[in-house]
Amino acid sequence: MDSFGVEDASNLYGIDSWGAGYFGVDEEGFLQVIPTKTNGNRVEVIKIVEDIKKSRMGTPLLLRFPQILSTQVKSLAEAFDRAIKEFNYQQQYYPVFPIKVNQQRAVVESLIEAGYNYRLGIEVGSKPELVGALSLTLPEGALTICNGFKDQEHLETVCLGLRMGRQIVVVVEKPFELDPLIELSKTDQPMPWIGFRVKLNAKGSGLWEKSGGSASKFGLSTGQLLQCIERLHQARMINHLKMFHFHIGSQITEIRRIKDAIKEAARVYAKARKMGIAVEYLNVGGGLGIDYDGSKTSSDASVNYSIDEYANDVVYTIADVCQTEHVPHPKLVSESGRALVAYHSMLIVDARDQINERSVKKPNFNGKEPQVVEDLVYIHKNMGVKNYREFYHDALERRDELNTLFNLGMIELEDRAKGEWLYWDIARQAVKYSKSAKFVGDEFVDLEHRLFEKLICNFSVFQSIPDHWALDQLFPVVPIHRLNEKPTRRATIVDITCDSDGEVDKFVDLKDIKPALEVHELIPGEPYYLAFLLIGAYQDTMGDLHNLFGAVNEAQVIVDQTGKPIVQNAKRGDTIGKALETYGYEPDKLIRNLKANLQEKVTQGKMTTAEASKLVEEYKRRFNAYPYLT
Ligand code: PLP
Repeated sequence: MDSFGVEDASNLYGIDSWGAGYFGVDEEGFLQVIPTKTNGNRVEVIKIVEDIKKSRMGTPLLLRFPQILSTQVKSLAEAFDRAIKEFNYQQQYYPVFPIKVNQQRAVVESLIEAGYNYRLGIEVGSKPELVGALSLTLPEGALTICNGFKDQEHLETVCLGLRMGRQIVVVVEKPFELDPLIELSKTDQPMPWIGFRVKLNAKGSGLWEKSGGSASKFGLSTGQLLQCIERLHQARMINHLKMFHFHIGSQITEIRRIKDAIKEAARVYAKARKMGIAVEYLNVGGGLGIDYDGSKTSSDASVNYSIDEYANDVVYTIADVCQTEHVPHPKLVSESGRALVAYHSMLIVDARDQINERSVKKPNFNGKEPQVVEDLVYIHKNMGVKNYREFYHDALERRDELNTLFNLGMIELEDRAKGEWLYWDIARQAVKYSKSAKFVGDEFVDLEHRLFEKLICNFSVFQSIPDHWALDQLFPVVPIHRLNEKPTRRATIVDITCDSDGEVDKFVDLKDIKPALEVHELIPGEPYYLAFLLIGAYQDTMGDLHNLFGAVNEAQVIVDQTGKPIVQNAKRGDTIGKALETYGYEPDKLIRNLKANLQEKVTQGKMTTAEASKLVEEYKRRFNAYPYLT
């Protein structure tokens, strides 16, 4: 066996490149998590999985690391604090967590706790999010920002929050949203602060580019902004206008785009200040991205900047514009969501089988095969580096002929199997020979992709990594053990849904996107676990119940200074009963129906009452089971 060390594994999977210091590999070949980025607090992921398994909670299993949330909040807030000091900025930074990025209560509460000293506030985009957010204990000065479309009830909830002492900014996304606010000002209800979302010409970059620019769904154009300012003047409400806000999309891959947007927004702020409007806050929205592939480039799965560079550019650019326009510095707000939560969770899945054509045993050839199979035997025997292209094309033709003859009833199953085995072995050899050529033609690249094996893993792409299915978003995937052993297979990962889209066939790579992942050969009777990492942003609530695979088992894990994992809040995933109930199959009704059906069979003498009762009892037990493979 070639020598293969943990450093090779780290390079192969890019762990040091995208891991941001949160993940490592130990000498025994186990993936480790280091949630505070300090050496003592590191633990092997497999240890956590095995610990949790003892309470009969198996994979798929979602692990959350609240210490990673704290570390991220701290690094974002401190990056801004450093920039504020360096550029002698006269105001403070007010981070705000957009709750839509991960609404899980435990996640939000961990963030708020970690961000208490940094004035971390919350951004909501809907009534349920607002109602949830009002229960949180925020520090003095922290903001609650209401984005998205709002109706009367939403505003009533805002007033409720104001009466509780919350500092709430209602962001006007469209001119018509001013009407209910003006009406509210005529009542004796408390008034929220008003923010205006400004539509910038600057656009983001990457998968979410269309959230920004002049054609974007949200925001006020320059003309609308001026009209709204005028309406506030007329209603004697201009002193309520406290914030300008913009958001040009999530995961902005290029820092240049961020700087362009900030320059434009800072100018809007400065010009408004010069019109005598005392806007206090400039909210730069979300968009601070994550380096999912570790390439530090502007590819869709990466970003060409760091948190420090982002903070420096925001602070410096705004200060610079304010200086040239002679206006005071605004208080700074960012709604960074992905950057705070992406690293904190990982999904552990177990591989169940490896499917490939290679696993079909070589058939016995007796020399009496039909001509088409004989021809394939000839190609198989005589193909070499010089003729592989031509011989492969001949093999393709013979394979089509084999199918035609079979459909006409002229070929038996046994001979068809022999022909297919020969074709796939020829294809494998052709790919091998093509690699020695200077230029590999597209057809052999495609052929190689078709030859990758499929690793069947116990999870649902649709439930756990919906952005991979919907947007081709890449997430790092790594085996959590055997990392001191050279992986000998290349595979795509297929889930257990009955859907051909339930497949991961794009993987992070420093230079490119890999069409297959390096994996180990499964050892019969031994589990093989893989981790999907950096899935903490957006995936939790976007997932769906395709095939009725619901939420997976999950647990929070704290790692103490001796590297001991402390498992908290272990929560079983949705049961079969819960998944069914979501779509109107109430377990009680199902059981009643079943009883009635079986009673009929008893009456017809097809089974006894005891047999019927036993079946009902067994059926009832199914409702409490985990929908995934156990
Ligand atoms: N703010 C607004 C208005 C958004 O629409 C979003 C998400 O798209 C965010 C903040 C969070 O963005 P991100 O997760 O990129 O920080």
